[in-house]
Amino acid sequence: MSNAFILAEMTWQDARDALAHAELAIIPTGSFEQHGPHMTFEVDTARAYEFSKLLTAELYPRVILAPPLSFGISFHHMAFPGTITLRAETFHALIYDVVWSLREHGIRQFFFVNGHGGNKASLDVMSVKLRHELGIDVAWSSFTSLATEIIKARVKSCISGHACEGETSQAMYLAPNVVKRERITRGAIKGYPYKFLGKGNSGAINTPYTFDEITENGSLGDATLASEEIGKEIVDAALSKAVEFLTDFMDKNKA
Ligand SMILES: [Zn+2]
Repeated sequence: MSNAFILAEMTWQDARDALAHAELAIIPTGSFEQHGPHMTFEVDTARAYEFSKLLTAELYPRVILAPPLSFGISFHHMAFPGTITLRAETFHALIYDVVWSLREHGIRQFFFVNGHGGNKASLDVMSVKLRHELGIDVAWSSFTSLATEIIKARVKSCISGHACEGETSQAMYLAPNVVKRERITRGAIKGYPYKFLGKGNSGAINTPYTFDEITENGSLGDATLASEEIGKEIVDAALSKAVEFLTDFMDKNKA
């Protein structure tokens, strides 16, 4: 596979040539946070970046791939040693400056491929701000949510969302180096800190709980059921939806 769409692997002359054709930049957003006993801090960033490589390859030369934003909003994991979080204002400034720079180079459309739930509120806020302040077209997706049907059919654990069966499967397929297979265990769930939070009530009432309040070992669900095959099915399903969306997005914004 040609890597002619990965900005981090280009010289400035390569970038000049790629930018002459590119209509849209994909920006992966990740985190640097604990992922249970069996995955490393870079899981979210690696998943988002590897998924973005597959996505950009499908849409080349209309799309280029920006370097991933390797830190995100991870206050809720700070009780676990090694986690690094950005403050929201730092993350927002980082997003703004990366987009501003690429806009200076002629890009007018942006798509954030998000690998970390804690970034969602920021991406919501920033996509509105970027559209209205910089006059660009912008969209974002936590790409796993493009594959809910496959996840419903294939993922057996009743709790999910972090270092779980679904995420571990994706990591096995997209970035096997971040998974320590011999250390995979089930999430040691302690429960939810308040009534009405958690499974089945997501979004009805919101409060910023922390992961040490919910899980002893930092995982949710049962990652022992994870497999590369499930990961591939999730990724393939999400990929075809993302390709369909972006093709339409670019065609309409061009028109
Ligand atoms: Zn994660």
